[in-house]
Amino acid sequence: MLPVYNELSILPRLTEALVENLERTGCDFEVIYVNDGSSDGSEDLLDQIAKETPGVRVVHLARNFGQQAALQAGLSVASGDAVIVMDSDFQDDPAAITRFAERWREGFDVVYAVRVQRKENAVKRFLFRSFYRMLNRISRTPIPLDAGNFGLIDKRVVQSLLQLGETDRYFPGLRSWVGLRQTGVPVERLDRHDENPRVSFWGLVRLAKTAIFSFSTAPLSLFYFIAVISCAVCFSLTGFALYHKLFSGAATPGWTSGLMTASFFGALNAFGVAILGEYVVRIHDQVRGRPTFLIDRITGSSETEEAVTFDPFRFSSPTANTQAGQPFPDGNNWR
Ligand code: UDP
Ligand code: MG
Repeated sequence: MLPVYNELSILPRLTEALVENLERTGCDFEVIYVNDGSSDGSEDLLDQIAKETPGVRVVHLARNFGQQAALQAGLSVASGDAVIVMDSDFQDDPAAITRFAERWREGFDVVYAVRVQRKENAVKRFLFRSFYRMLNRISRTPIPLDAGNFGLIDKRVVQSLLQLGETDRYFPGLRSWVGLRQTGVPVERLDRHDENPRVSFWGLVRLAKTAIFSFSTAPLSLFYFIAVISCAVCFSLTGFALYHKLFSGAATPGWTSGLMTASFFGALNAFGVAILGEYVVRIHDQVRGRPTFLIDRITGSSETEEAVTFDPFRFSSPTANTQAGQPFPDGNNWR
């Protein structure tokens, strides 16, 4: 299952490589492309590929919802005993598929790629490295280092992921949160087929924020720590002032220091409010219950082509299912 956003030039070669490697696993397979509102002609090309290649299915989202939403959409239509999630820009090596399948057959529910030898520039590599280590430290769920979306997940994991009602999603984190038997396989991160990442730098920053705020309360706990320090500073200064007033009779402290202290703590307050705001925004999103994605239509597939009615809640909102009093999706609730 691969999200696609304007990857026109690579799609034929990618499909060929996928089919070749999937055949090697000896399993029945289906390739699901989720077209995340591409505008470069990928849409038509995908339809054509789906028509010409047996076992290729394309889910067209109603617009560009972002990679994480596209992943969720793909999982909601996948029907295999296991799903391999990967990028469609050829950075995830299709040759790893057979290794994932082997580990899955050994009984693992999640086999994720541990990215080695990233090809990005040194600054980006450093940031990725630091991010994964920091997240791992502060997260309440252990999240493996250097593991992105690329990997295989068993049907049980797919169903659990679909059950999770949150809209602001960080796939690698949620995948670890599920638990069961998980293992990593080192996979070399290939070069992008073009020089132009579809997820912008700020997109990555947003994703990093999602990861941090959905898996850790450390940013909030930091404020308990700051509060203790602030109290200590405050008491020491008061003691200092009182001592001079009562015993030494030295001059009272100038207003400059008072002003500096006030503004310093004012800034801290503002920062605290900003962090609280991050949580509030997420709570707000959740309460609103806006679906993560909307599907426009589905083409191709080994089965019959489906005429899909435009019913967002039937497709994408796990909470909508539970609210309707239905047990957890058995697959059909999702289509
Ligand atoms: N992608 C997507 N929707 C978007 C942005 C990206 O489906 O809004 C897809 C993109 O086509 C690619 C994958 O997500 O298959 C990863 O994108 P990119 O290579 O830009 O991310 P990076 O490799 O930097 O994580
Ligand atoms: Mg990429």
